[in-house]
Amino acid sequence: MAEPTEPSPQSIASPESVPGDPPPLEFEPSTPLQFLPGMGAARAERLRRLGLRKAQDVLFFFPREHQFPPPPTKVDELREGQPATFIGKITDAELVSRTPGKSLFAAIVENESGAVRIVFFNQPFRAEQLTLDRSVRLSGTPKLAGLRWEFSHPKYELIEADEADPENAENKGEILPVYPLTEGVKEYELRRLTRRVASVLAEGAKEVMPASIREAAGVRLRDAGIELAGDLPDIATTLRDIHCPPSAETLTAARTRLIFQELFVMQLALAMRRTSLTGRLQAPAMPCTAKIRQRIVRRFPFELTADQNRVIDEIAQEMGRQFPMNRLLQGDVGSGKTVVAIFAMMLAVASEHQATLMAPTEVLARQHFQTLRKILADSRVRIGLLCGSLTAAQRRETLEKVASGELDLIVGTQALVYDIDFHSLGLCVIDEQHKFGVRQRVRLREGGVDPHYLVMSATPIPRSVAMTQFGDVDLSTLREKPAGRGEVHTYLAVDSWRDRWWDFVRQRIAEGRQAYVVAPRVGDETVASDSTSGSTGDAADALDDLDALDEVEDVTSVNRTFEQLRDNVFKEQRVELLHGRMKAEAKQDVMQRFADGEIDVLVSTTVIEVGVDVANATVMTILGGNRFGLAQLHQLRGRISRGVHAGYLCVFTDGERSPEESERLKVFEQTSDGFELAEADFRLRGPGDMLGKKQSGLAPLRIADLNRDVEVLQVARMMAQELIDEDPDMQADEITGLRDQVLRRYGNRLDLGDGA
Ligand code: ADP
Ligand code: MG
Repeated sequence: MAEPTEPSPQSIASPESVPGDPPPLEFEPSTPLQFLPGMGAARAERLRRLGLRKAQDVLFFFPREHQFPPPPTKVDELREGQPATFIGKITDAELVSRTPGKSLFAAIVENESGAVRIVFFNQPFRAEQLTLDRSVRLSGTPKLAGLRWEFSHPKYELIEADEADPENAENKGEILPVYPLTEGVKEYELRRLTRRVASVLAEGAKEVMPASIREAAGVRLRDAGIELAGDLPDIATTLRDIHCPPSAETLTAARTRLIFQELFVMQLALAMRRTSLTGRLQAPAMPCTAKIRQRIVRRFPFELTADQNRVIDEIAQEMGRQFPMNRLLQGDVGSGKTVVAIFAMMLAVASEHQATLMAPTEVLARQHFQTLRKILADSRVRIGLLCGSLTAAQRRETLEKVASGELDLIVGTQALVYDIDFHSLGLCVIDEQHKFGVRQRVRLREGGVDPHYLVMSATPIPRSVAMTQFGDVDLSTLREKPAGRGEVHTYLAVDSWRDRWWDFVRQRIAEGRQAYVVAPRVGDETVASDSTSGSTGDAADALDDLDALDEVEDVTSVNRTFEQLRDNVFKEQRVELLHGRMKAEAKQDVMQRFADGEIDVLVSTTVIEVGVDVANATVMTILGGNRFGLAQLHQLRGRISRGVHAGYLCVFTDGERSPEESERLKVFEQTSDGFELAEADFRLRGPGDMLGKKQSGLAPLRIADLNRDVEVLQVARMMAQELIDEDPDMQADEITGLRDQVLRRYGNRLDLGDGA
């Protein structure tokens, strides 16, 4: 039962050669595997572990990759010691010796080019498989034994006689599919099975992509530089070619079609959702006239960069519409996102709506609050601040003013702002959003309309992720930095530099600059109790910081670093400590004094990572740099590229660096462009980390790879949007199959309403 019997030669008559009805198929798509020819219950059971139950499953069980083995060799091409493949028929086979422990099986394998000998020692069972007249494909390294080439213990595969014909295209270097395996299932068995199933069922497979789409996609893909000879092949050809490709070219076409289809279906789902959302939701229209624009821009103490102007246009245009903006503003650290946000908020206020700006930490919220206050100093705009360190009475008062409309702009920490009652919220800005998940929405009043959303991030999102996870988000990008920015020099240090580096830092301080020292972080383990530091502020504040940092800071480590530096390295300088577990007022006080130049060296955890803006601080030391991620390192570096002075960053590591850590640090040292870093990060870590698997909301991909196939993805996205623009519910007859696939795969996940 367990051993497979050989399938009979494939002799499926082509339908057109048979008059009348086509012959009944040997099996149907729904035939359970154990009823396939040569299968049996035990093998079927093993295949189940690969998720294969019915014949149909096998048809859509795609190879991981393909191998291109060299074509079989002729006898006079064999060379001593050179691996070779040889195909032929067994013309003689003999168990030369049966003595246990000394048995010898030998056979002669012959084809038109001549004969070779194969031998197996102590494997008498070979005699049962390698019988007279069988055809085999051998591979191994031959030796000349007398006048004959001999393969000792070659690998072999039993094949059909007609498969052995050297004139067969596939014997001139057949491309071999490589399938994922499971215990007890061999590659050649799968090859045989898929080949067989494809030869019977591919023809009848249902085509969901009409010729018009396949043709258009072919043109677009070629325009995008994808290697493709013609249109995307139809499904029958695709399935046949992916399992037994006659040539590299047809294989590429088949793969491209499958990749395109998978991404196209995903993009159709995202486009459908985008369209249905914009149709359902209502937001206040807040049009921007030239006069309003001028009035706002006049308040900024500098000229906007061209990029800032462009993005402001994009945003103003969208906020002028009656459906909610859902925009992600990405821009490298220091590219000036805040100004853009302030513009948008003032536009909301100009239309008599409220706007809110949420920051991940109180330090940052306060900084934004100060910035806004400065810019709006002599205006009638009323600004409120909501953060953990307010007294209960202060907070109550602020909330009342938000609800009654007595405040126009509300700046606060995310944890606090999400759940409050606004009088008339028109715009919600979320700063420094690094965790790209499902975004929380603000609370809406009964019968109220949605606000516009603007999310800002300095961690640029790789193109592929932007096009998938953010399928319903529009992107604005600030690439250019405001002029006159000092460059940051990044050094990857070795321990022996320490003294010289501290000398250098002291020199910069003597010149009037300020310095950050980022303490190493220890592990990611969560601390069970909160008692390690008695200094936590109120509960909301602690929560707020934990949310923001996503880890419990190791206060011992930063304390130790602080004391050590204060007592030894920077005895003459003013050194202070900052970490997330300090009371809010204490943190604020330290930040303020650092901003005012009253502190020379700020020893801190990554609490300074996000957004903090002190232009005079130009030197940074990162200790234990191997423990930080690329995005975080880049954020940290951003703290010292904010003024006209050149910045200097020195990264020390502790302990041995793992190869991944070394790679990451090398990339970091060599690249200062946040976009390149994000792509590198994505390459090094894969998308999982960045998105959080659960939050991504999309079905896993079977054949496409977001990293590799980003060009195909781009085409799929464009075509999907065009199709949905024209036919929002995919009602056209010729795309019913495609629509079913979209709903089956994404209907529930993306809540496309139509249930599947
Ligand atoms: P980020 O994009 O990192 O949030 P910010 O908005 O904090 O950057 O801006 C960084 C610094 O650049 C701030 O000090 C800001 O005042 C300044 N800035 C922003 N736009 C301009 C500009 N167009 N010209 C000069 N300085 C600018
Ligand atoms: Mg910022």
